[in-house]
Amino acid sequence: MKCPLCGHLDDKVIESRQNISGTSLRRRRECLACGYRFTSYERIEEIPLMVVKSDGRREPFDVKKIERGLVRALEKRPVSQVEIEELLNQLEDEAAMEGKANHEIPSKTIGELVMKKLETVDKVAYVRFASVYKRFGSVDEFIKEIEKLK
Ligand SMILES: [Zn+2]
Repeated sequence: MKCPLCGHLDDKVIESRQNISGTSLRRRRECLACGYRFTSYERIEEIPLMVVKSDGRREPFDVKKIERGLVRALEKRPVSQVEIEELLNQLEDEAAMEGKANHEIPSKTIGELVMKKLETVDKVAYVRFASVYKRFGSVDEFIKEIEKLK
């Protein structure tokens, strides 16, 4: 790498350190010409998770959509914002796990993950979500339908 001080292109790596989650690597380098020490970083380029809808179209996974669905289903239910945040974190992780093989997840699978969560958290919200979701088959349609009811 090019020395930031003298512009020389040869250096040696003195030290390599990985972060705890293993997603980035930091290297301490020393310029072979002037001895100046500098740091370079390597990061994993993340491939976005894509949601495959029932009609075959794909769109990037968006946790905000799940949040809107959850907030609608949990309206006036005794579930705090903190609990909703926690649910969203779990759902995001679970969706990433489900889709890790090819960076794709069917929207149907997301709906099922949401239903499983709601079933353990709040039965009323579960029934609200499930009754509409099962009829319409996607979180998007669920949100649209619930919005019409208001
Ligand atoms: Zn140098």
